[in-house]
Amino acid sequence: MNMSNKLVERLSEEKFAGENLEWREGNWGDTPVLFVEDGDNWYYKKGGVIYIQAKKRDATPNCYDCGTEIEFVRQSQSEWAGQFTGPVGGGDVKLKHIPYCPKCEKKPERSGVMIGS
Ligand SMILES: [Zn+2]
Repeated sequence: MNMSNKLVERLSEEKFAGENLEWREGNWGDTPVLFVEDGDNWYYKKGGVIYIQAKKRDATPNCYDCGTEIEFVRQSQSEWAGQFTGPVGGGDVKLKHIPYCPKCEKKPERSGVMIGS
């Protein structure tokens, strides 16, 4: 139906012998993601992209679709995003590290964006 489903199908076929993937909810760093794992790798799904990261120490995550190394953007997010606009005093802004594929995704904004699932 869309690119994301095709990618999920490909992951299922290539890594899970065509099984239905049972995505679990979790966090990758500060980012809410869906993930599955096998013996060797973690697979993170964020929106329409899937990232693959080997389960060894300090492994670099890559885009599952194009193989490009994942980059991170430091993003400031208001704890109260969606409820208040404008400054509401100190301590309300959190820095988050947002992963993205420089080839398949638009670089995330550095601030003010709520992360969808
Ligand atoms: Zn990519």
